[in-house]
Amino acid sequence: MKNIVLFGAPGAGKGTQASLLAEKYDLIHLSTGEMLRKEVAQDTPLGRRVKDIMLRGDLVGDDIVVNLIAKAIDTGRGTTMDEWDEIRLRRACGLADNEPLPEKPQPSIIYDGFPRTVQQCQMLEFIFRQKERKLDAVISIDVPQEELVRRIHERALVSNRSDDTEEVIRHRLEEYEDKTRPVLDYYKVSGRLISIDGSGEISETNGRLCKVMDALLERN
Ligand code: ADP
Repeated sequence: MKNIVLFGAPGAGKGTQASLLAEKYDLIHLSTGEMLRKEVAQDTPLGRRVKDIMLRGDLVGDDIVVNLIAKAIDTGRGTTMDEWDEIRLRRACGLADNEPLPEKPQPSIIYDGFPRTVQQCQMLEFIFRQKERKLDAVISIDVPQEELVRRIHERALVSNRSDDTEEVIRHRLEEYEDKTRPVLDYYKVSGRLISIDGSGEISETNGRLCKVMDALLERN
């Protein structure tokens, strides 16, 4: 049962890379951004609370995202699974396709976009203690600022994300510098941080990540 955090600024490619890794290594993919967008799209009470915050490019409250993550860990329902994908969950638990799922599944998980504040890191530690999990690694995808801005603008042309506008993008990057970058130092101190170069093509970054994952999962 592994717990791997994929860390990076907006535009670093966390979402894309987390999906690829989840597919290749049979992990449950939990993206707080996707979870929140789903709440907004479904116009749930929570969605209505966070909609304007996200539109401005502000971070949503720590309690909200931590709650979403805690629930998702319990159900093992990944954000990229359209419905209850039992086969994926079974594999993420290290079970064969025909083995029954235990009542409380304990899948391996990749976290994308979480934790994003030092407070969230501390809250995650608390949750892990409760759920008898441990953080195996935090992998940071490093991309220079100019390249981040270029990519988000490029994505804005094709995405229908309402937070991909000029002003909001700038604000999301500010929020990152202010509140999220300190997360790197938090994990550096505890020796769990692995940084990789994410400035190139998707496949290049994926190759680097797979090497790290192979070592973490002791696959060669
Ligand atoms: P990106 O990394 O490109 O900014 P995400 O999909 O990860 O995109 O997040 C989109 C928005 O969702 C963020 O700008 C923020 O408002 C909210 N959000 C996502 N994850 C978190 C989190 N862990 N804490 C607070 N807010 C979050």
